[in-house]
Formats: sequence, structure tokens, C-alpha cells
Amino acid sequence: MVEINNLVRSNVLTLQPYSSARSKFTGKDGTFLDANENPFGTLNRYPDPQQSELKKKLAQLKGVNTQNIFVGNGSDEVIDLAFRIFCNPGKDKALTFSPTYGMYNVSAAINNIELIEQPLNSAFQIDLPTLRPYFNDPSIKLMFICSPNNPTGNLIDRAAIDYILTNFKGIVIVDEAYIDFATDESLISMIDQYNNLIVSQTFSKAWGLAAARLGTAYADKEIINLYNKVKPPYNVSELNQKAANEALDKIKKYEENLAVILSERKRVEKALSNIKEVQKVYPSDANYILIEVQNADQLYTDLVNQNIITRNRNNQVKNCIRISIGTPEENNILINAIKNIK
Ligand code: PMP
Repeated sequence: MVEINNLVRSNVLTLQPYSSARSKFTGKDGTFLDANENPFGTLNRYPDPQQSELKKKLAQLKGVNTQNIFVGNGSDEVIDLAFRIFCNPGKDKALTFSPTYGMYNVSAAINNIELIEQPLNSAFQIDLPTLRPYFNDPSIKLMFICSPNNPTGNLIDRAAIDYILTNFKGIVIVDEAYIDFATDESLISMIDQYNNLIVSQTFSKAWGLAAARLGTAYADKEIINLYNKVKPPYNVSELNQKAANEALDKIKKYEENLAVILSERKRVEKALSNIKEVQKVYPSDANYILIEVQNADQLYTDLVNQNIITRNRNNQVKNCIRISIGTPEENNILINAIKNIK
């Protein structure tokens, strides 16, 4: 067990979560004259700050209690609030495993937190021997583990994550934005065992709701209480809560779309590995594929000139391009374009 309160910024400990006497969110009606809203219209009321209906559905789907869930304005908010809860600006540090998702770096910079970037090994896995010295550094408050990792597409070994959770006395955020595309199970089931574990997920990928901005965090209720203290009261709009609730009611559609993306991933992987110019196709547990080519800058620009936008990751992984899995038609356009590039 980690003593969570010892990790929290002192100003956060004294904050109180926003609360209201309104009964609207428990399904009862009342005369609401407390929030200076306009009494007319359809979107005139503030949204449920607790996102109660959404959390009820998520609790059932994920096998947790509603008190173990935080809903954010995208999982980018889950990341940003972690810095605000746990890291004193200019003093504390966080650690990531590079190459990885860029927002950890951006969020650390915005919050004036030093970020240690520990390189993944050649198999894009965590190198535990070089990580060990950091376990006893009390200034490191957060470690971000992205699994499946963006942009490399691989899952991080479960044994390494377990080892970190057991030995690191700070907070471990496992970013599972792409877990629904993966062969491994989520780590959500481990939140009872490790009170320093935050599992972050999103509606932006497998649920197809990137425009709605909905991210989720699953953790011990002590950590979720801290999130509730620092979040803006109405951080998830009514429209977005509704979009998520509707998506969760249509699990079949979700599963169908997921199946198409997975079979397309297999097809694109195979097609790209048969193209001579593509030197390597990294196996993927996500909805994108990382490929290595002779000249990533050149290929990226050639594709842009045909209005095909991929992600040039040459600055992160030499001569690599990250390609999202699209519809079968979009994937064909991509495959043909790469085939025909001289
Ligand atoms: N984590 C990872 C690893 C991502 O790749 C992304 C988005 N590209 C996010 C989080 C952010 O997702 P959201 O849309 O929920 O903010």
C-alpha cells in the first residue's frame, strides 16, 4: 500500500469537491434557482457534475464501483489533472518511457514539471534494471506507462508493470487508450490490489467518439476523490454525456466496428509487408500500424501531396510512419499510394 496523502500537493488536500443540493441528477424534479441559469430552452441547465448515469453504465461494463470512476474532458484531462494533484511545479518530477504519447510531455511542460524520459529497449519494452534507481526518488510522483504504446503499437509486458506497481511508491498511470484493440486484458481489475494505480481509458478510439472529448480514469476511491476536488465542476458537457450513454447502449454497433478495424489491421499489415519499399511493419495491438521505410520524411510528403495524411514519427523512431486504420476504402487508397510511390 502506498500512502496516497503523502504524495498529494498540500493545496489539493484542503480543497473540497463541488457539490450541489440539486436533486435533478437523482431523477427528481425541483425548483432550480441556484445556478443563475436561463429558465428557457433545452440546453439551459448545467450538466450533471457527477455524470451519474454514465458512471452507472461504466461501473457495470467495467466491473467496478461508481466511486472508482472519474470522467474527464478527454483522457488528456486525466493526464493534466494528475500533474495538478500530485506534482508541485518546479519541484516534483514525472517519468515516461519514450518513444510515447506526446501529451505527457506537453502537460508536464504546461504544469512546470520536469519529465524524465526513460528510453524503451529495442523491443519497445521497459528496461527494469535502468529504471530501478528511480524507485527510491521521492521527487518522482508519477510514472506514465502507455499500453498499447503510442506510436509503437505494442503492449507493455504485464510482469514489468506489476513490478513497477509493487516497487514504485508514487502514482502509476497506465494509459489504456487503445486497450480495446489489444490481445491483453485491461489492468482495471488491479485497482483493488494497487492503490497507486490509475488506469486511463477513452471514448475517442474504439468507441468512435473523439469529437465528444470523453476520457475515463479508474482507480482506488481515494484517488478518484482527489480528481473530484480538482476537476472543473462541469467538465463534461450534457451533449457529451448523452453521446457516451447512447454509445454504451449500442454495444453491438461498437463490437461490429471494432471487428472491422481488427480485420482491416490484419489486412493492412499483410499488404504493407508485401511492399518492397516498406522495410518493417511493427506488430500492432492498437488501431494504427508503425512502419519503417527508407525515407520517412519523403514518403510522408509524397502521401500528403496525394491528400493522404499519416503521422511522420521520424523524430521519435527513425524513418517510421504511423498509419491509422481507416475504412476498407481508405486503407485501399493508402496501400495503393504506397505501392505506386517511386
Ligand atoms: N492517450 C493516448 C496514448 C493517446 O494516443 C491519446 C490520443 N491520441 C490520448 C491518450 C488522448 O485521448 P483523448 O481523446 O481521450 O484525450
